[in-house]
Amino acid sequence: MEELHSNLKARAIAEIETYSEELRKVSEEIWNNPELDFKEHKAHALLTNFLEGKGFHVERSYLGIQTAFRATFGDSTGPNVCVICEYDALPEIGHACGHNLIAEAGIAAALGIKAVLKTHGAPKGLLTIMGTPAEEGGGGKINLIEKGAFESIDVAMMVHPCPSNHAMPTALAIMTLEIIFHGKAAHAAAFPWEGVNALDAAVITYNSISMLRQQMKPTWRVHGIITNGGAKPNIIPELTKMEYYLRAPTRSEVKDLYSKVMACYEAAAKATGCTVEVSETAPFYEDLASNLTLSNLYETNAKHLGIVFAKKDVPFGSTDMGNVSYVVPSIHPMYKIGDGSQVNHTREFTAITNTSEAHQHTLIAAKAMSMTVVDVLTNPAVLEQIKKEFASDISLL
Ligand SMILES: [Zn+2]
Ligand SMILES: [Zn+2]
Repeated sequence: MEELHSNLKARAIAEIETYSEELRKVSEEIWNNPELDFKEHKAHALLTNFLEGKGFHVERSYLGIQTAFRATFGDSTGPNVCVICEYDALPEIGHACGHNLIAEAGIAAALGIKAVLKTHGAPKGLLTIMGTPAEEGGGGKINLIEKGAFESIDVAMMVHPCPSNHAMPTALAIMTLEIIFHGKAAHAAAFPWEGVNALDAAVITYNSISMLRQQMKPTWRVHGIITNGGAKPNIIPELTKMEYYLRAPTRSEVKDLYSKVMACYEAAAKATGCTVEVSETAPFYEDLASNLTLSNLYETNAKHLGIVFAKKDVPFGSTDMGNVSYVVPSIHPMYKIGDGSQVNHTREFTAITNTSEAHQHTLIAAKAMSMTVVDVLTNPAVLEQIKKEFASDISLL
């Protein structure tokens, strides 16, 4: 058994290496054609054609979501393991979060796991590759969850590039708000007293929230911009808009933070005589509840491949993989690319997500994922432990 187990891992590693060049091309092409939330048509076509060409059963525009897909291989009498691809980019700065590499890691792991499932004497299992659009704010995974995409999945995993290696990173829950102030226009020089200044309400809100920071927990994050600050200096602004992101380690802490932020904009409306209108502009992303057993398996496999994990964890933002982690046992390890000085969502990071160095790190992360799947498939007790732990994690929430 032990021998089969390590043979299967070696098989996955060798298979991924065989396709190195082809995989690099896929990631390069996605990088060269950055596409935004739910508009990832080229990436969708590229990835689904690739997987179909490699013998997977592919469902394009899965569950009616145009740029989502599902690809499967194997036997549904065994456990259903899901590897997740992301492939959306950011406005203006392209693949500054490296989702081209996440897609590459997903299809690389798919090839490794497929080779495992085809090996003589290998345990039965179903491999699902889920193509999830719009991670950068659109919450593609949330749509997929709502449509039942994860109902038959036993475990889900993906990897994400960043400046350091973390098996169990912290991702914060996030609420996305739009705040609109309505005032009254007036000539700003001739009859300013006739006006109600909606920009003043926005400025007061911005300043109050900035002052609130001193009383916030160190793990909370709140950041906003003014997206409409008025039409012209000689008109008292009658309408202003702000966008704010509120983040904290749990949903209930985000709610606490929200009530404090609410007091800021309500006070600003009162002080200026404006009315205020608030809405959530994106789905709520849950925090990431990584499965400990699954993370430990990944960590052991990645260490075996030479990965050194960071000692300190820092929250890296938020992800709709958090929502997945609340419906199935999941992991979302971060892997290092670059020299540690380039951080996500910068032009410097965009530059390093299309290098052969990043490609090599991506293959290692893909190998670690496929080795983790071997652990899950070859040892039913491990899967049982993962599920037990998931049930107790969720019941504590
Ligand atoms: Zn990002
Ligand atoms: Zn990202």
